[in-house]
Parts: sequence; structure tokens; C-alpha cells
Amino acid sequence: MIVGVPRESYPGERRVALVPTVIPHLTKAGIEVVVEAGAGVEAGFPDPEYAAKGARILADRADVFRAADIIVQVLCYGSNDQTGKADVPLLRRGQVLIGFLRPLGALETIREIAATGVTSFSIEFMPRTTRAQSMDALSSMGTICGYKAVLIAAVDLPKIFPMLTTAAGTITPARVLVIGAGVAGLQAIATARRLGAVVSAYDLRPASKEQVQSLGGRFVELPIEAKDAQDKSPVLVTREMVANMAPGSVIVDLAAERGGNCEFTKAGQTIVEHGVTIIGLFNLATAVPYHASQMYAKNITAFLLHMVKEGKLQLNLEDEIIQSTLLTQGGEVINGRVREFFSLPPLVAEQKETK
Ligand code: NAD
Repeated sequence: MIVGVPRESYPGERRVALVPTVIPHLTKAGIEVVVEAGAGVEAGFPDPEYAAKGARILADRADVFRAADIIVQVLCYGSNDQTGKADVPLLRRGQVLIGFLRPLGALETIREIAATGVTSFSIEFMPRTTRAQSMDALSSMGTICGYKAVLIAAVDLPKIFPMLTTAAGTITPARVLVIGAGVAGLQAIATARRLGAVVSAYDLRPASKEQVQSLGGRFVELPIEAKDAQDKSPVLVTREMVANMAPGSVIVDLAAERGGNCEFTKAGQTIVEHGVTIIGLFNLATAVPYHASQMYAKNITAFLLHMVKEGKLQLNLEDEIIQSTLLTQGGEVINGRVREFFSLPPLVAEQKETK
């Protein structure tokens, strides 16, 4: 069983799907690793480090796809809408593809991937269960993002975060509000607290109150109306709210890529409205490529070890982890959640057989 690691091709992407330290764990399970030359360089993992752990370095991207039974990427075609299409002709029937595929993005793209006959697994659909925790790359990236979001806000804020008592007077601490105290939000609270800010947070889930408080945040109730939004983010910060904020305030909108949680947000841009800086940058995890890659590689390795036993791919379709993440197989989009989302008719049972 050979796992191939192509260099990420999305513009500005600096992460890599596997880092050298995970290779021995894969080797022990009968998995050989081939890496496209330079794949880990931007994340801080040069080729010789992979080679030292037993990986084969291949200069040509197409050779990596040719050699590999399983391709692992961070942004596969689907989530890589800029350059990902170039990989489609390199995929082949029965080959396995694992990575972020944006399964609820564009149906046409998912169908293109399906048409190659590749057995693809969408890491976004990893169930958030205890069993799958070690494979939950979305949570790993959320952690990195929550941290980075606060640092970005700190850079753009015309104030400092901590309270300071100096000979030039006392500086009051910055006040930070985190809306949504999930993985990214909790890490944002922790990071803002470490920088010395006074932090409040809000979440729809009552259970998050305790988590917020355990990180030293104050839990607040906000009259925000929650709407059921499938793949478009709900508006939580309206234009009026922004207009009422103090000039110089900063909003970091982590949902910018899917429409944004602030009405003013422009995806990929930083804008100023009513004196408030609204940051709509996405793919923040790529700005911390070393640890983002390390965490992603651990998640992917756990997933690989879950499905490869004694050097052989063993796909148990009864298994919740396999069933949830399996996106395409045998030329079809077979994921039930995706078929329902795009109103595709249900598949007949025979087509779901494993290879
Ligand atoms: P998560 O599912 O762990 O947390 C989301 C939290 O938001 C949950 O606790 C949920 O209860 C809460 N929530 C949902 N609707 C709400 C509402 N109307 N009001 C208040 N709280 C609400 O997700 P996460 O991994 O922490 O990601 C959080 C956000 O960051 C998502 O929008 C995700 O897409 C985005 N994200 C962005 C990047 C990036 O690069 N910009 C990277 C990772 C995650």
C-alpha cells in the first residue's frame, strides 16, 4: 500500500498533508510513503527529513499520483477551486483520495471527482464522536484558526490588549467578544485571555457556558436569532451593530468564505466601515503551516491506520467513520448527506458495495 503526498497547489497554501514524524507509524502498518519534492518545504519540513524517515521523494507530481494507491492532500479539487482541476486527470479508478473536498460546495465539481472512479473521503464529514476525535481535522484547523484570528485582531487594533499600569497612566485592557464558542471560539477566548484582554463570549449551546467560564471568559446572553443555514453562514453582526461600535474596533469573521457572519464582510478582504475594520481573510490555518500540518498529519495518519490493516485497504461500510466520510466511489457520488443536500435520488443498494 503506497500513500502519496503531492505538494499543495492552492495559491498561498503552505501546509502539507503528512509530516516526517508520522511516517514510521505508517511504515509499521505496511504503508509506504511517496512525497512530491518540496511538498513540506513551506511548512518547515524539507525533503531530507522525509527521506530520513523512509519516504521516497519523487520530482514529478504525476509520478506521485501514478505510484500511489492512496493520495492524501490538504486541499483537494473541490476545496481547491483555483488549481485543483489539474489533478483530476491524474486520478484513477479505485485509487483513494483523502482531504478537504468541500462536499457541499459545487455539485459539478464533486461529480467530476466521482467520474474519475476515485474512492474519495471528505475529511470535513468526520463525525465529531469520541472514536473519531483523533481524525477530526476540522477541529484541528479550527483550533489554529481561533488562535490566529485573535493575533490578527491584535495587530489591527489601535490599542494594546493587556491592562498596563505605567508612569504614563493606566491603560485599560481590550475587550473581546467571541460569538460561537466551539473549537475555534474557545481557542480564541484562551488566546485573547493570554494576551490580557477581558473576554466575553456567546453561544447557542447552553453547555458552552461552563467551557467559556473555565477559560476565564464571561458568558453573555445575546438576542441573536439563529436561523437554520445549510452551507451559508447566518448573519450575526448586522450593519447597524457595526455602525454602533466604537471606531477602531476590529471584527474577524471566520465564516467569510461562506458568506460571512457580519453583513459587511467581503471574502478574502479587509475593509473599513464606520471606522470599524472587518477582516474577511480565510484559510487562516495556512498562516501557521508548521503546527497546522503537524496536526493535520496526525489526523490523517489516524484515519489511514483506521482503514488500512496489514498493508491492505479494508473499507467497512458499516463503520460510521467510513460511512460518513466516503464521498465518491465507483464513478458515483455515494454520500447520503451530499445526495440529500443536492436533491439527488437515492442510490440502489448494490452500488454501495465496497471494492
Ligand atoms: P464548531 O462547530 O466547533 O463551533 C461553532 C460554534 O458556533 C458551536 O459551538 C455552535 O453552537 C455555535 N453557533 C452556531 N450558530 C450560532 C449562532 N447563531 N450564535 C452563536 N453561536 C452559534 O466550529 P469551529 O471549528 O469552531 O469553526 C467556527 C467557524 O470558523 C465556522 O464558521 C468555520 O467555518 C470557521 N472556520 C474558519 C476558518 C478560516 O480559515 N477562516 C478555519 C476553521 C474554521
